[in-house]
Amino acid sequence: MSTASRAIGFGLGDLPRIARGAGSYLFDTEGRRYLDGSGGPAAFSIGHANAEVNAAITAQLAQVACGYRYLFTSAALEALSELILRNCGREFAHIVYCSSGSEAVESALKVALQYWDARGMGTKHRFIARERSYHGSTLGALSVSGFLERRRPFERSLLDVAFVSSANAYRPAGGSAAAQLVDYLARELEECIQRLGPEQVAAFIFEPVVGAAGGVVPAPSGYAAAVKEVCERHGVLLIADEVMCGSGRCGTWRALEHEGVRPDVMAVAKGLAGGYIPLGATILRKEIAETILAAHGSVLTGYTYSGHTAACAAGLAVQRIIEREALLDRVRTAGHTLQSALRASLERFEEVGDVRGRGFLIGIEFVRDRITKLPFPRERALSHTIARRAFQNGLIVYPCAGHVGGVMGDTIIVAPPYNASDAELSELVSTLELSIAEALASS
Ligand code: PLP
Repeated sequence: MSTASRAIGFGLGDLPRIARGAGSYLFDTEGRRYLDGSGGPAAFSIGHANAEVNAAITAQLAQVACGYRYLFTSAALEALSELILRNCGREFAHIVYCSSGSEAVESALKVALQYWDARGMGTKHRFIARERSYHGSTLGALSVSGFLERRRPFERSLLDVAFVSSANAYRPAGGSAAAQLVDYLARELEECIQRLGPEQVAAFIFEPVVGAAGGVVPAPSGYAAAVKEVCERHGVLLIADEVMCGSGRCGTWRALEHEGVRPDVMAVAKGLAGGYIPLGATILRKEIAETILAAHGSVLTGYTYSGHTAACAAGLAVQRIIEREALLDRVRTAGHTLQSALRASLERFEEVGDVRGRGFLIGIEFVRDRITKLPFPRERALSHTIARRAFQNGLIVYPCAGHVGGVMGDTIIVAPPYNASDAELSELVSTLELSIAEALASS
């Protein structure tokens, strides 16, 4: 099932046919124009049909289809790696490339297992993850995903993963007051590690800002530092899944930079090459890489198209534009403005319970009642109705459901390109306001 059909509930046969893109807009073959207000699923970091990126890809392909990573390095791969490591900080030292977020997470899980094996501690094989999270579609990545609807048909074949609560200040776990939430969650993680036995636990994986599984949920301040401290104390690796929230989407290159926390392993994809060619990466902290390389000679995860030359050229061109045009500064400042504008324009809807996020990753949560935060019935499919209305009105946003009790809950993700203009952001806000009004009136 394509993301689009999954996202907005069209049958595959009903989808419009894409013709072309230009900056923040897409056009179908009927001539309809769509403002890309969510990068599809938060992937398109610099908009569409960028001539510089396309020229870089074309020039690279004119040289070679692909220099197979395990026989050759390439100028594009080396320059991209240098840029990524510079942005991540020098504590990171090794990158395994791939073609998707799922593969990047899959590799991150395997890196954790290999690291403990390299240290002669192969009993450490269990993962702890969080409820209301999404880490990907492959069986390993799905195993650590707390996303009931996407897991259900595969449940019996998934890894035995332990889950702890999501870090959601709007819907705090255990009913804890906001001020105590971080302590509650850190204690819960520690108890989980102790219950499984630290000698069994390889890693804890989490999204610094939850994407599709929660409708954008930034963890409360102090959470990342608290879980890192627990993990360090018990010899458990910290894996940050920054597939959606990283590569600059939250206004810093690493989403966790905001918290001053460095994970042991990190997964990125989506915005890295901005959708021009599929590209993901698993990034290892120096000590993790050195331990594995000393014991085994190589990181035992990789794919035929790891470090595909044209994908690296695309990623490099996208990232150079982001740097040259100071787009992370833009995301930080315009992100504040966009979030405020959304809050102001949507305030009039009693059904809008929360507007939250960081940078250009913003979530809007809909509730039946602002005080009780009661969600809408699942059958109403409110988020999908809003997204479908928006699509008909020429705006792409990303609907999410299921973050309340695994089945209910409606949110809309807004995640425009980092270089969307002020006028495009205003259009996004007004079209979304109109679409929400229509959806609420119609259902
Ligand atoms: N991790 C997160 C946080 C995601 O949001 C996604 C996709 O939405 C993935 C992993 C999987 O990425 P992909 O769909 O590129 O395999």
